[in-house]
Amino acid sequence: MSQSYDVVVIGGGPGGYAAAIKTAQLGLTTACIEKRSNAKGDVAFGGTCLNVGCIPSKALLDSSHKYVEATEHASHHGLKIDGVSMDIAAMQSRKDKIVSQLTQGIGGLFKANGVTGLYGTGTYCGNQQVEFVSESGEKSTLTAKHVILASGSEPIAIPVAEVNEDTIVDSTGALAFSEVPKRLGVIGAGVIGLELGSVWARLGAEVTVLEAQDAFLPMCDAQIARETQKILKKQGLKIELGARVTGSDVNGTEVTVNYTDAKGDQTLICDKLIVAVGRRPYTESLFTTGSGINLDERGFIHVNSYCQTDVPGVYAIGDIVRGPMLAHKATEEGVMVAERIAGHKVQVNYDTIASVIYTHPEVAWVGLSEQAAKQSGEPFKVGSFPFSASGRALAAGDSAGLVKVVSDEKTDRILGVHVVGPQATEIVMQGVVGMEFGATTEDLQLMTFAHPSVSEALHEAVLAVDNKAIHIPNKKR
Ligand code: FAD
Ligand code: AMP
Repeated sequence: MSQSYDVVVIGGGPGGYAAAIKTAQLGLTTACIEKRSNAKGDVAFGGTCLNVGCIPSKALLDSSHKYVEATEHASHHGLKIDGVSMDIAAMQSRKDKIVSQLTQGIGGLFKANGVTGLYGTGTYCGNQQVEFVSESGEKSTLTAKHVILASGSEPIAIPVAEVNEDTIVDSTGALAFSEVPKRLGVIGAGVIGLELGSVWARLGAEVTVLEAQDAFLPMCDAQIARETQKILKKQGLKIELGARVTGSDVNGTEVTVNYTDAKGDQTLICDKLIVAVGRRPYTESLFTTGSGINLDERGFIHVNSYCQTDVPGVYAIGDIVRGPMLAHKATEEGVMVAERIAGHKVQVNYDTIASVIYTHPEVAWVGLSEQAAKQSGEPFKVGSFPFSASGRALAAGDSAGLVKVVSDEKTDRILGVHVVGPQATEIVMQGVVGMEFGATTEDLQLMTFAHPSVSEALHEAVLAVDNKAIHIPNKKR
């Protein structure tokens, strides 16, 4: 059997499904192939993000945060809540329902937009041909004028702590614990390690995070990273830096983790161990050798800034290509590729992609950190404002953290916005909007921000850039 489409997308994650919907909206006949199944054995669109990533992790982060609000924060507001208890099975089933609603929703969007969703594995074979092996094993060849590869990523495995899906798990296993581990080890203090460590710490686990690097969150602005480390420590997360895991032994229900740090050989005994040492591009069965697709030196599919591979008419997007492994980056690449296939000259602005860590408080940033600005050698200005001086944050009892703004000294343009604190993501997105429009510090200084709002901290930080803050003392001129 052979079928022809204008566009065949391999992979139905936030990169692939968005690309497929957009090409269909632009009038192109489109199929999207996805091999992931759900617990019922049906196709599960939505990729890592909806099934085992962004959404289920945020569901558990929100549930566990509500637990902390009830057990700890409520009393600060003069509320006495006795007898709070947790039901992990109910928490997990709520999470599963959200996942199921959203993944089924993609199927609905495909129908509404005329995308043909195909359940099975796709392999690009060269010459505009995609081999499709359906979930039941039937083979067919799809012919496509354009092919979009969007197969995503998988957790990196390390031989010193092999995942056994019981005591040693990766991020997927850590989203499905049926009870709170008493002692939880986490290898890797990256975004995923900190988010999942936070979920279980909030619910009562003693959490130790082992991180090989000496610096905490080296991709963040250093001041924001220091502040975040302090806040997480206060919440009870034990973060050991310069701690390289060298081996592990499973003895029944216990794991002994061996690591070395500045003091020498150390051990950590825990009931569950999460391996969260990063993700790598997933390209198994994605293309045949000889199809013309090349990988770069780090194993990502080689593409140019428009996500074109080395084969004309074949594109690759999302976690399988260079750049941050983020769902919104994957989606925007998918939309860009769809628009370009339709002849529209759009491009992704990689300089304004925000990064977020959904701890509490959140950590979010966009653009240049103070260190990166220093390294650029160009003159720059910095302003910051602590949430401890924000009326709205204090009223909410959520006043840890700060907003920091980096601007170009010559042009006054905003180069970076960095936040740890309440609603950090939403505040940083205001920076993204400003930066997209080439906003200067002065542009934001002259805007009126609603009072009381946590966004006022952004206003005060841009004012502080020029020593004009109202609610904190300014630097001495
Ligand atoms: P994926 O989402 O991985 O989708 C690829 C799909 O392709 C998969 O479903 C796979 O089954 C399918 N596939 C692969 N090969 C084939 C084939 N040959 N044939 C058919 N189908 C195939 N990002 C954020 O932006 N915000 C967050 O808060 C966030 N939280 C995260 C939390 C966790 C625990 C994890 C693990 C990740 C998180 N991410 C987050 C990252 C985000 O999930 C990814 O960046 C995003 O899903 C990448 O999208 P993608 O479309 O490139 O790939
Ligand atoms: P990320 O790539 O942001 O998910 O972060 C993964 C983290 O895991 C990085 O900060 C790595 O330094 C850390 N890491 C990788 N291997 C080890 C190891 N063997 N022991 C401890 N930390 C590790």
